[in-house]
Amino acid sequence: MLRRLISGTVSRALGLPSVSQLEQQLTACRSELEAVNRQQQTVYNVISKIRASLDTKTIFCTATKETCRLLGIERVTVYRFNSEWGGEFVDGFEFIEAGWEELSVWRTGSSWSDTYLKETQGECFRQNRALYVSDIYESNLSKCHLETLERFRIRAYATCPIFVGDKLWGILGAYQHSGPHQWKEHEMMLLSQVASQLGVAVKQSQLLKNTKDKARALKQANALQGLLLHLTAEIRDSLELDVLFKTTVKEVRRVMAADRVGIFRFDLETNYHYGEFIAESVLPTYESALMCKVRDRCFGDEYFKLYQQGRLQVLNDIRGANLSECHVTILEQFQIRAQIIVPLFDGEILWGLLCIHQCGDTRRWLTTEVDFVRQLAAQFSVALDHANLHSQVRAQADRLAGMVQSLEALNAELREMGKVDKLTQIANRRAFDDCIHEEWQLMMQQRRPLTVILVDIDFFKCFNDAFGHVEGDRCLQQVAQAIHQAVESFSGLAARYGGEEFAVILPRTGGESAVAIAQQVQRTIQELAIPAPDSIHRHADVVTVSLGIASIIPEAGQSPQSLIEFADAALYQAKEGGRNTWRTFQSQKPFKGNDRSVIKNNKPTS
Ligand code: GH3
Ligand code: MG
Ligand code: MG
Repeated sequence: MLRRLISGTVSRALGLPSVSQLEQQLTACRSELEAVNRQQQTVYNVISKIRASLDTKTIFCTATKETCRLLGIERVTVYRFNSEWGGEFVDGFEFIEAGWEELSVWRTGSSWSDTYLKETQGECFRQNRALYVSDIYESNLSKCHLETLERFRIRAYATCPIFVGDKLWGILGAYQHSGPHQWKEHEMMLLSQVASQLGVAVKQSQLLKNTKDKARALKQANALQGLLLHLTAEIRDSLELDVLFKTTVKEVRRVMAADRVGIFRFDLETNYHYGEFIAESVLPTYESALMCKVRDRCFGDEYFKLYQQGRLQVLNDIRGANLSECHVTILEQFQIRAQIIVPLFDGEILWGLLCIHQCGDTRRWLTTEVDFVRQLAAQFSVALDHANLHSQVRAQADRLAGMVQSLEALNAELREMGKVDKLTQIANRRAFDDCIHEEWQLMMQQRRPLTVILVDIDFFKCFNDAFGHVEGDRCLQQVAQAIHQAVESFSGLAARYGGEEFAVILPRTGGESAVAIAQQVQRTIQELAIPAPDSIHRHADVVTVSLGIASIIPEAGQSPQSLIEFADAALYQAKEGGRNTWRTFQSQKPFKGNDRSVIKNNKPTS
């Protein structure tokens, strides 16, 4: 006690604080420190909660809720600036007493147009300064500022800027409605720390979003590549364009997540003024453009040439793209907001357009998407080529089928009319007679040559004798079919003239062509390689024939019979000449019915 008195006296004498004063100061310091500690702990807790999420909505919600609770203030909000220093409330939390029910002006998404901020371009916030007013009526505020605050029924406020990186992003605001509020230092500190943490959290979530977007773009690019490979294979195999178009629009819309994918075909006869969508895949929310006749005068006049040069149109937003009015009208007709249009070519000709539409909203098309559509369109030219070729082949096949049908009908007719030889199934003598009369008249009118070739099997009697009549019949059948096949492609008629003798009529044929065909007949029969009997081996190992050829341009006063006789004479010459050979008989003008003087001798071909 004494010591305290002495020290108190000494201290006073020296002008120093007393022990008890020091003790009091110490206690005050300690409790202040504890308060700061507690506060730091609380801030730390709030920050941990904010950091626990990467989703901005949850972050804002946690931050405003926790700050509101800690400050015991009536409202805390996050406000986000737009480019013109206006903005909107993105989230907030109220702690409002009865009577201060929800004010509609505070709803999420409602905006605050602040002329002061606009004029200063958020100057005070950009300097990272907090603004606070304990009572708006005691702070000498401008009239318009006061009016805005009254509209929001704010009596006291404290606001801190939120920076994302070095960009002023928004404001964290604390508001008191019911009365003034004296802002304390630790409250302002809490608000400012939460605001800076919000900036970090927003930055992180933006980074995450960017990373996610990149991953999504990469995944889509992969899917596009895969689809391109698949469709390319399909296009190369496909001959049915309708099916191909349907698969393509469906698959492309799925992978690109577009609202509509269509294939537009021009009506070429209208000079690119008309066309229609011939395939489409569209979200049910939007109208179908399928089978709508589209009349586009400005396309035919303006755009056609550009597409013809291979131009693409990539529009992220048709508004503000400076398009002509008629173009916009058409796009609006189909509710289009963004699009990629690529030309489709049939050879060198602009055939149509591949259209990718976004209807609901604008769309920033990615380079990978544009490249994909471009490559796909190039493959379509291949598909169109294939399809053209296919339809040509199909038309040819149809024509052939038609010819086969009429040939079959002709054969049936022949059989019906008794013009087919029973044994050999080629034309019989009667058919030969009818045909030669008809062709004779025709060739006479056309002044074209007509040829008759008589074909006789050499030593056939010996063949019969050696192998029997049945084998002889089989030999006749083989020889008949061989002659028929050899002359068929020259529009010739092969007939069994009698016994082992055949006759060929060749209209529009004479001279060397007739000889060539006769040689072909001779060769074909030899190639049958029907073994000849031993008795004629000195002549040949296989069955052979002799041929007599006669050609003429028919004239009035002559008859087909004479032509046959000339051929017969030539055949006789061939037999005389040693068989397995041919001779020609050519008429010379003036033609005399029995003139046989111009038999032409020929060496055997084998
Ligand atoms: P060449 O070389 O001089 O023509 O002698 P070739 O033996 O062929 O002539 P030829 O006129 O002496 O004999 C023809 C033979 O053809 C006689 C006949 O038995 C045979 N023949 C005719 N019609 C038929 C038939 O329908 N079936 C069979 N198996 N033989 C036939
Ligand atoms: Mg004979
Ligand atoms: Mg004979």
